[in-house]
Amino acid sequence: MSTRLVLASNNAKKAAELQALLAPLGLQVIAQGELGVSEAEEPHPTFVENALTKARHAAAATGLPAIADDSGLCVAALGGAPGVHSARYAGEPKSDARNNALLLERLAGVADRRAHFVSVVALVRSADDPQPLIADGEWHGEILTAARGEGGFGYDPLFWVPELEQTAAELDAALKNTLSHRGAAMRHLLERLHARPL
Ligand code: IMP
Repeated sequence: MSTRLVLASNNAKKAAELQALLAPLGLQVIAQGELGVSEAEEPHPTFVENALTKARHAAAATGLPAIADDSGLCVAALGGAPGVHSARYAGEPKSDARNNALLLERLAGVADRRAHFVSVVALVRSADDPQPLIADGEWHGEILTAARGEGGFGYDPLFWVPELEQTAAELDAALKNTLSHRGAAMRHLLERLHARPL
């Protein structure tokens, strides 16, 4: 018998990716929308608080264990911005093109181009689980002065990966998954789940 796990997101691609990773552990991933769960607010200044809030919200609404992730880009010269505001850096409606343009504007003339993506995953057995499983991953690179590449999403065309001399938007999707913050966070989560099964 598989254990049902609610994903606190309605992103079908995320759900399929997670399902493939978690099926060997006997877990069945269900997107929260399928169970009529609304999206939670993400009011906190840290990725971990937002991921936990989303997971708790989904667990409270369904009575099932739940998993959530929160991610974004942190730029050293901007004190970690856009951080948790990455998706809506340039305001509503959310737009990758306007976010990237604003990032280039804020970094105009700035020599320190260091930046990293962060992904935090939180898994709770119940809404009031006192010991959630938390895993994170980082991916370090630099912000270019102009976009390059057509693939990926978000800040990928500006995110230069020095070891490969390519932007994240120029990388093959499978290669991106092996290098990225999300891939690393998921690998860490799997290690934790193996050590402490649901
Ligand atoms: P969320 O985790 O779905 O809330 O996404 C946060 C935001 O961070 C996205 O909308 C993107 O702007 C940015 N982001 C997160 N991961 C990536 C990535 O792998 N490439 C480019 N941008 C990303």
